[in-house]
Amino acid sequence: MHHLPTVVATDLEWASFYAADLVEARFPGTPRPPRPNLMTAEARELRDQLARVERIERVAVMPGEHPAPVDLDVVTALNNLAIEAYTCAAMVAQAIMCPRPAPPATLQTNVGPLLDFAARHLVEADFVDPGLAEDLAPRARRIVNTLAHHLDLWPDGHVLRITCPWCPKDGPQAVGDGQWTLRVRIMPGDQIAIVCEGSCEPPGKDVTTWWGGRPCWPLWDWAWLAKRLQAA
Ligand SMILES: [Zn+2]
Repeated sequence: MHHLPTVVATDLEWASFYAADLVEARFPGTPRPPRPNLMTAEARELRDQLARVERIERVAVMPGEHPAPVDLDVVTALNNLAIEAYTCAAMVAQAIMCPRPAPPATLQTNVGPLLDFAARHLVEADFVDPGLAEDLAPRARRIVNTLAHHLDLWPDGHVLRITCPWCPKDGPQAVGDGQWTLRVRIMPGDQIAIVCEGSCEPPGKDVTTWWGGRPCWPLWDWAWLAKRLQAA
């Protein structure tokens, strides 16, 4: 069983990395400027490796595709994100008796720092205020889904061009080089997960969740999975 405060903190930390992209995405067709690599911790670096591959492959909305100067769906999403992110940060701050952070000034405010604050202190906050992580879990999940949806990060069925290290290399079930079996799937409950759709059976220490008889790695396992795929 996963430690819920850690799972929720992972969602918030992931969201903090992408929040600024949603601000940029309100202008359809505007090329998204390259962002500096803000990641410091090695674990974060590894987990986002997968994410970066997806970002590079993501096709920008073509100029002229949307006649409106701003994408109203994105503006609505930004509005909700600002409220959700601020609520998370404020509740965490209250639990650990920190001053409440300032609410986002405008819709263009990057709420990444608020999410990052909530992510960094959530485990501690849940310790002093048991049940806080459970309260924030659906909110954190909504934030992740909003970002993934509007930034088109991982559409259902998206193929990861990485060889699954557990799929058999020979025999009748063999998966050859260049056969990509790892896919992003939107699971029941809107969980985003990577599923191997080959024919592997990783040992229990390598996979904790199965879906339809297939090994499956939800978002909070991606740091580990990225490291494991890199080592393979
Ligand atoms: Zn496999």
